[in-house]
Amino acid sequence: MERQSGKRLIESEVVVVGGGYAGLAAALRLHDHAVDFTLIEAADRVGGRVLTEVRPDGVTVDHGGQWVGPTQRHLVELAARFACPTFPTWEKGSHIEIWHDGARVPYTGAAPTDGPGIAEYVRVTEVLDELAQTVDTVRPWRTPRFAEWDARTAEAFFRSATDDPAARRRLALTVQGLWCAEPDEISFFHVLFYIAAAGGYEQLMETRDCAQDSRFVTGAAGPARAVADLLGERVRLGTRARAIEYDAHGVRVHTPDGVLRARRAIVALPPHAVRAVGFAPALPDSRDGWLAHSPMGRVAKIHAVYDTPFWRESGLSGVATLYDDGPVGVVFDNSPDDASHGVLVGFVYGDRLDGFAGLDEAARRSAVLACLVAVAGPRAGDPHGYTEKIWTQDPYARGGYEAYATPGGWSAHGEHGWREPTGPLHWAGTETASEWNGYIDGAVSSGYRAADEVLSALRAEGGR
Ligand SMILES: Cc1cc2nc3c(=O)[nH]c(=O)nc-3n(C[C@H](O)[C@H](O)[C@H](O)COP(=O)(O)OP(=O)(O)OC[C@H]3O[C@@H](n4cnc5c(N)ncnc54)[C@H](O)[C@@H]3O)c2cc1C
Repeated sequence: MERQSGKRLIESEVVVVGGGYAGLAAALRLHDHAVDFTLIEAADRVGGRVLTEVRPDGVTVDHGGQWVGPTQRHLVELAARFACPTFPTWEKGSHIEIWHDGARVPYTGAAPTDGPGIAEYVRVTEVLDELAQTVDTVRPWRTPRFAEWDARTAEAFFRSATDDPAARRRLALTVQGLWCAEPDEISFFHVLFYIAAAGGYEQLMETRDCAQDSRFVTGAAGPARAVADLLGERVRLGTRARAIEYDAHGVRVHTPDGVLRARRAIVALPPHAVRAVGFAPALPDSRDGWLAHSPMGRVAKIHAVYDTPFWRESGLSGVATLYDDGPVGVVFDNSPDDASHGVLVGFVYGDRLDGFAGLDEAARRSAVLACLVAVAGPRAGDPHGYTEKIWTQDPYARGGYEAYATPGGWSAHGEHGWREPTGPLHWAGTETASEWNGYIDGAVSSGYRAADEVLSALRAEGGR
């Protein structure tokens, strides 16, 4: 290790920037191919938008990503490799929809079959599925009606698809629930792309055998920590990439306490975090334009902890969808598998978060508990534990679950800006995934893809 102007100079073949699932997966693949690398992570932990906390009462809480489904093969295989078990999400009992006029509509099974606007909603979602089947998720710009759909918002499509206000409310909550954004903010093409990347609308929305199927016994950060343990000292925490210089010979990644020099870099950051790094030379217009069209969703995730999952005794599942004016849009039973405590989790997203985040802590808590009381009864108003994570205030994520594309972004910049390498810079992160884009699984596959790009480049350069 040399020193340069009093600062450390670290040399490796590859630098990986970002220690979320994408960066860790990239580093793991390099490790498996015996390629020398250093991974730098700005925070003092790995996992990024997956953040597991074991609370003083022993309850494990996932503040960020938590669920895994059976078709999320990259994450499933990673978890199996590191022996991280899962358990099924609780969904026994009666689910509830709460409407803006206060009506409570119970239902059982995977999805409601009755209630305001349901027939129209189902019809429109079938259309979404049909259109999504025409999307090319590897080369999205080759999709037949790519530019036409990318010029519209999801809202414009919903308005043309149905006049039914209740169906539109359902569709709006879907957009909020999946992208943490409002229907008038997101490209309609992006909606279809995302549905296609997940393998269909049902995969995104439902629990059993779908995206919300299971949770990790030791929290969703379990596999990430296991990968970091295996990689050892090559993972450097608390090391933020401030600037990246690159040319045909390689990269120099500047951090507050030194410079890392390498032949190639894998940048595994969400779009806004890429923009916070200074690049020299500046990134090409296509990449910069793509990043500018990729804002983060706006979400908070709140857990209330009780002695028992008491709602189960009265036949409730704890699963609820709220179309009223409260902050919470969706509630799930997030209790541990052994039901040693009862845990309800609520999500606040999109425009609802803007008002919510501006309240003081006590007002936020009482607004959320009022929603939980509406779902599970008066006992829900008195949890022994309460914790919230407002992701827009996280210094590194600045939102969640993921970035979405605004209208025009895909057609103007997607082909060259989405994930095409920039000289020796390779782009990873769930936002660059063709399968399960936006999910942990997408992060993992994006890391593998970027590492494969690097491995072929190194081979082509004759280095390996
Ligand atoms: C509330 C919430 C709920 C979610 N629920 C689910 C779910 O149930 N299932 C699911 O599959 N997905 C879920 N997701 C999405 C999932 O968590 C993400 O898709 C995935 O974790 C993204 O991984 P990533 O590696 O692409 O990015 P990140 O996890 O964001 O990793 C990027 C890393 O880079 C670091 N970093 C940032 N800037 C720099 C810098 N300059 N230098 C060095 N390091 C830097 C960050 O600290 C971070 O660790 C959820 C997300 C949120 C927020």
